[in-house]
Amino acid sequence: MEPNRSAWKISLHGGHSGEFCEHAEGSLRDILESAVQVGYHVFGVAEHMPRVEERFLYGKEPAMGWTAQTLEQIFDRYAHTIRALSEEFADRLTVMCGFEIEVIPQDRYQQLITHYRNHYGFDYIVGSVHYLNDTLIDGSSDETFLELAEQLGGLECLAVAYYQKVAEMAQAVRPEVIGHLDLVRLRTHRLGMTEAIETPRVRQAVEQTLEVIRSVDAFVEVNTAGWRKGLPEPYPASWIVQLGARMGVKFCIGDDSHRPSQVGFGLEEARAHLLSNGVKEVHFLTRQEGAVVKTRASLE
Ligand SMILES: [Zn+2]
Ligand SMILES: [Zn+2]
Repeated sequence: MEPNRSAWKISLHGGHSGEFCEHAEGSLRDILESAVQVGYHVFGVAEHMPRVEERFLYGKEPAMGWTAQTLEQIFDRYAHTIRALSEEFADRLTVMCGFEIEVIPQDRYQQLITHYRNHYGFDYIVGSVHYLNDTLIDGSSDETFLELAEQLGGLECLAVAYYQKVAEMAQAVRPEVIGHLDLVRLRTHRLGMTEAIETPRVRQAVEQTLEVIRSVDAFVEVNTAGWRKGLPEPYPASWIVQLGARMGVKFCIGDDSHRPSQVGFGLEEARAHLLSNGVKEVHFLTRQEGAVVKTRASLE
């Protein structure tokens, strides 16, 4: 049976594959085949940007003999492969070629992102903040996370600093997509401390960040990996989607897939999450006569 290829079925964040990412599985080709099967109208692939210094390598990477240079070489291969595959799949699926940024090292991430973007001619970037003060906030241990919170004056301060970082990043690199806007919720939820990051002060910081996001015309993704990681809601939580909807912020969808079986995960639920929180259309990028353009589709 032909999959139902509705216009709203898009993902602009995902397609991490075992070929180019140490914590993903499967080939990029298999990921794209899955995206065709799911019935995606547009599928954006946004592999992780290389981390350029040894201190940022993940736990098992040094043991695998990897260095910062290895990540650079892998990314170079990725950039060429995704472009070739997007052309090969063009008659079955619109594939957008992107990458997910890092905000490290904090004093020169902007230049690095500009370099990768221009050097390889990517269609778009996903603006994600995984680090605060060069410390990983989602993959780190509870201890590292709590230590960082203490340094910053507590969890509430950490959350405010996190959202301010997202705003700074959005202004600095003008990403087309804002990745998992409330990622700070992940570890806080696991620690049972969500209340500490939903205070009036944090809400105000979120509102200011949404203001910046709207001013740079970036799309906030509903990222379904939140469910996969055990959160009761995807990123961002309902109250943030409602606030963004009232402010006229644009939303898109991302499955943040890290293997073929995760492609399309939570797609219908993401649509329901948007609709139930007051968002009636999804925004995305597509290709028109060779050019990358912004467009939208009704979710109803
Ligand atoms: Zn990843
Ligand atoms: Zn991410």
